Amino acid sequence: MGEPRRIVLKMSGEALASAASDETIDAATVERMAKEMARAMDGGGLELAVVVGGGNIWRGRTGESGGMDRATSDAMGMLGTVINALALQDALEQQNQPTRVLTALSMAEVAEPYIRRRAIRHLEKGRIVIFAAGMGNPFFTTDTPAALRAAEIGAELLCKGTHSGVDGVYSADPKLDPTATRYDEISFMEVISRDLRIMDLTAITFCKDNNLPIRVFDLMIPGNIPRALSGERIGTLVR
Ligand code: UDP
Repeated sequence: MGEPRRIVLKMSGEALASAASDETIDAATVERMAKEMARAMDGGGLELAVVVGGGNIWRGRTGESGGMDRATSDAMGMLGTVINALALQDALEQQNQPTRVLTALSMAEVAEPYIRRRAIRHLEKGRIVIFAAGMGNPFFTTDTPAALRAAEIGAELLCKGTHSGVDGVYSADPKLDPTATRYDEISFMEVISRDLRIMDLTAITFCKDNNLPIRVFDLMIPGNIPRALSGERIGTLVR
């Protein structure tokens, strides 16, 4: 077997929630995600880091639109990502998958601080690494730290799991335009020039500048996490 593939999986906080049960963090949903990640790790061909968002708990923009100071509101959002990361860690460890949460804001009583070399070491030892608290800076969403961390740890791919029912990159919004078609592959330039909003523009530009391909796929379809992480051509590849 060759070198393991090193991949960053970006998942929205909302992917852990459940509309049906009205839960912010739905135990059954988190368990399913954890089982799929653990399955993807089987066989030892993968080094996996996960960046989890916090949109199910708080988004910086929500507070700002209600008159809050943006930086304070973003700090709340970053803390939300830590809550999700701890839920995911617990679910992964219930699957006997060793996992470490590394936070960009220090809170050493609950998780390790982010140290790049330590993250790499954990990956080499077969642990799933969850990056929490985004980048530790306000005015970003977790898409950008997902791209940044992927570049820092030398990941070959960023997998962006969607939870909105849109299973890749389309020529137009498929929910509004029935003629919209899905691309199997598309260039960064085209995503940017056609303003196809699959991730924050900051993150896409960063990936373009650093030659980091992105696979966009539907996180909510059972089995899709191991598929995307094993290199199956689901969704859309942006490169
Ligand atoms: N956030 C931040 N800096 C970061 C990453 C996240 O300030 O580097 C804050 C921001 O307020 C954001 C919130 O954390 O709205 C939750 O992250 P995000 O919106 O990306 O969550 P997702 O939509 O992926 O669930």
